[in-house]
Amino acid sequence: QAKAAGRNAMCFFDPDMQEVMNARVILESDLHKSWERNEFVLHYQPQVDGNGVVGAEALIRWQHPRRGLLPPAEFITQTEETGLILPLGNWVLEAACIQLATWSERPETAGLNLAVNVSPRQFCQPDFVELVISTLERSGADPHRLKLELTESVLVHNMDETIAKMTALKAKGVGFALDDFGVGYSSLYYLKRLPLDWVKIDQSFVRDVPTDANAATIVRAILLLAKSLELAVIAEGVETAAQRDFLVKHGCTAYQGYLFSPPLPLDQFEEFMAGRDGQR
Ligand code: C2E
Ligand code: MG
Ligand code: MG
Ligand code: MG
Repeated sequence: QAKAAGRNAMCFFDPDMQEVMNARVILESDLHKSWERNEFVLHYQPQVDGNGVVGAEALIRWQHPRRGLLPPAEFITQTEETGLILPLGNWVLEAACIQLATWSERPETAGLNLAVNVSPRQFCQPDFVELVISTLERSGADPHRLKLELTESVLVHNMDETIAKMTALKAKGVGFALDDFGVGYSSLYYLKRLPLDWVKIDQSFVRDVPTDANAATIVRAILLLAKSLELAVIAEGVETAAQRDFLVKHGCTAYQGYLFSPPLPLDQFEEFMAGRDGQR
């Protein structure tokens, strides 16, 4: 008994474990401070079709005082666990809507859509619909330009409630995309029942076309499926011309990826748009 307890105690003070816990405590405390100090920023990654840039996806970054610019993989899970995702998600939505309203006043950016990632916890808030509508109204953004990206984890909660929320927002003009499509368990039944506008083919499949036969088959199947369900498709993570050519050949019409542009800070995104103005 005592020996077992002793071993457990040893385990607890295992230096590696201690380090992991310290890192976690520091991260959580940094996150709370960063929220007060406005250290979060949005980057914008262009989304293109055959004619040029049609929109952007807003992607959050954390300008960490010691560690530099951090991608969401370094902190999003912790914000979900601590609940900080709620104010943070509201901030993203607000910043995105304000940006949309600003873009609509300039010729080079007037027609752009903006995609915003919504976390499951945020979407499940009882007042999510009202929040989106009031944010749109306050900012003056055109609801038809806002695309909300949901992942499958939203769907597992309550299908009817999910559909009701999506329907209410769609009535205002807001569009919906199913992000990371193909990696989860989405039954075709879900896909058909949900009032979606877009599916985004997950980058793990895009990465392996055209060389990997399985990935190629899956991507072709997703494109056919989307077509028969009358959903638009966007491929994410397009890095090479060979990947794009494969996608074009099989009927994909919209793309996002390093081949076109990485996510950019606002000023660089606007320069990118100004530079491409003549090509649209
Ligand atoms: P996601 O929504 O699937 O976003 C696409 C991710 O792929 C982004 O990573 C983007 O930078 C990356 N990407 C784009 N093109 C390429 C490419 O050609 N090659 C490769 N290898 N990667 C590419 P990022 O910005 O690190 O974001 C990761 C995830 O974090 C996002 O995945 C999304 O799930 C989440 N996220 C980002 N911003 C927000 C936010 O504001 N709110 C919430 N809740 N989640 C966010
Ligand atoms: Mg996304
Ligand atoms: Mg994705
Ligand atoms: Mg992803």
